[in-house]
Amino acid sequence: MFVDKAKIKIKAGDGGDGAVSFHREKYVAAGGPDGGDGGRGGDIVFQVDDNFSTLIDFRYKRKYFADKGENGGARNCTGKSAPPLIIKVPRGTLVKDAQTGRIMADMSTDEPCVVAKGGRGGKGNVHFATSTRQIPKFAKPGYPGEAFEVVLELKLLADVGLVGFPNVGKSTLISVVSAAKPKIANYHFTTLTPVLGVVKVAEEKSFVMADIPGLIEGASNGVGLGHEFLRHVERCRLILHVLDVSGIEGRNPVEDFNIINSELANFNEELAECPQIVAANKSDMATQEQIDSLREYIEGKGIPFFCISAATTQGTQELIQKVTEILDTLPPIKKYEAEPLTQQELDEMAGLNEKFEIEVEDDIYYVDADWLEPILRTVNMDDYSSLQYFQRVLRNSGIIDKLEEMGINEGDTVNILGFEFDYIR
Ligand code: GDP
Ligand code: MG
Repeated sequence: MFVDKAKIKIKAGDGGDGAVSFHREKYVAAGGPDGGDGGRGGDIVFQVDDNFSTLIDFRYKRKYFADKGENGGARNCTGKSAPPLIIKVPRGTLVKDAQTGRIMADMSTDEPCVVAKGGRGGKGNVHFATSTRQIPKFAKPGYPGEAFEVVLELKLLADVGLVGFPNVGKSTLISVVSAAKPKIANYHFTTLTPVLGVVKVAEEKSFVMADIPGLIEGASNGVGLGHEFLRHVERCRLILHVLDVSGIEGRNPVEDFNIINSELANFNEELAECPQIVAANKSDMATQEQIDSLREYIEGKGIPFFCISAATTQGTQELIQKVTEILDTLPPIKKYEAEPLTQQELDEMAGLNEKFEIEVEDDIYYVDADWLEPILRTVNMDDYSSLQYFQRVLRNSGIIDKLEEMGINEGDTVNILGFEFDYIR
C-alpha cells in the first residue's frame, strides 16, 4: 500500500540527573562534593533511506522516544550521553509540526536532520559548593528532551510531473520513455500510486518523471482520486500535460486541458505558475483536423505542443528532447526551507516551564506544576542549602507571589505535588 501521510509522536531523551556524592577516602574525614553531571538525552534524527518509498511503517509504529542520558556518578563521573534515535524516511518526506504546520525539515538530501534535541544533563553537586555552602546535598535534574507531534508528508522528488485525465495514456508514456513499469489498462484509475521513472537522455544525463494518478474534476476539493496525489506535483519543475487528442472516449481535449489546469490552480496557486508542456497523445487515432485545432489552441496560449502516440512511441523522442531543453533552463527541484519558531512560539515554550495552578481547599494551598516534579525529586528536605535552592525556584517562577496574592498566612500548609510544607515568610 502506498501511504504518503502519517502522524507520529517524537520525543528526544531527557538529560540524566546530576549526582549528589561526597568524596570518600580511608582516613580522610570529610571529603568535598564530587557528584558528576548527567549525560545528554538522545536526539531524534531523521535520515533519508532510499530503500523506503512509502510512509507505511509509520501507520503501525507511531511513537519514537529516544533514551534518557545516564545520571551522573560519584568521583565526578559524567553520565554517558544517550545515542540519537534515527528515524528513516523515504526521500522527499517533509516533517511538519502537527500543531502549527511549521515545516521542521525537508528530507530530500542525504544530510541527517535533528528534529528534536535531547535535554542537557543536570549539574552534579560538585558545582554547587560555595564558601558558605560547603556540603551541597542537592544536584540538578536533567532537562527534558524536546517533544513534538509531527506530520510526515511525502512529496516526491521529480523533475517532470505527468498530469491528465484517467486513460489519456500517461502510464503508457512513462513506460516507453523510462524503465518504469506502471500498470496500463483501458480502465480508469489503474494508477493508484505515483510511479517514478528515470528518463535517460544521454550517457550522463537523465531526469526523473512522475506518473501521478489521474485527476478528475473536483479533485482539488477532495472528490475522487487525484487530490491526495496533487502534492506530488508540487515540487516538479515542469508539468507534462497529457491530452487525448483523438477524443476516442468522447472527451474534449480542450475542455480537459482547462479543467485540469483549474484543478491545479485550486490546489495550489503556485502550480498554475509551473511551466507546462502539452503532449497530445493517441494521435494514431486522431484526424489531422483534430490535431491541428488542438495545436492551434495550445500554442495560442504560448505552451509548447507535441503530437505523440505513446502506444507506437511516435514523437516521444522529440518530446523528451524538448523536455530536456526546457529543464536546462529551469531552477532545480523545489526544496522547502525549515521554518524557525516564531518569537511567540519561543515565548510559549519558555513559559511552559513557569506554568502553574494553585487551588485552596480547607486552608491548604495545592500547587500544580508538572515541571516542578523532577526538581522536587532531587531536593533534600533535610538540607538547608537544598531547600534554599528550592525556595529560590518557587520565588523565581512567581509561585510565592501568587500564594501571597491569594492571602496565604504564616503557618498555612502548602501542598506541592503531594509534599506538604508549612508556609514561613
Ligand atoms: P493513464 O490512465 O493516463 O495512465 O492511461 P494508460 O497509459 O493506462 O492508457 C489507457 C489506455 O489507452 C490503454 O488501453 C492504452 O493502451 C491506451 N493508449 C495509450 N497510449 C495510446 C496511444 O498513443 N494510442 C492509442 N491508440 N492508445 C493508447
Ligand atoms: Mg495510469
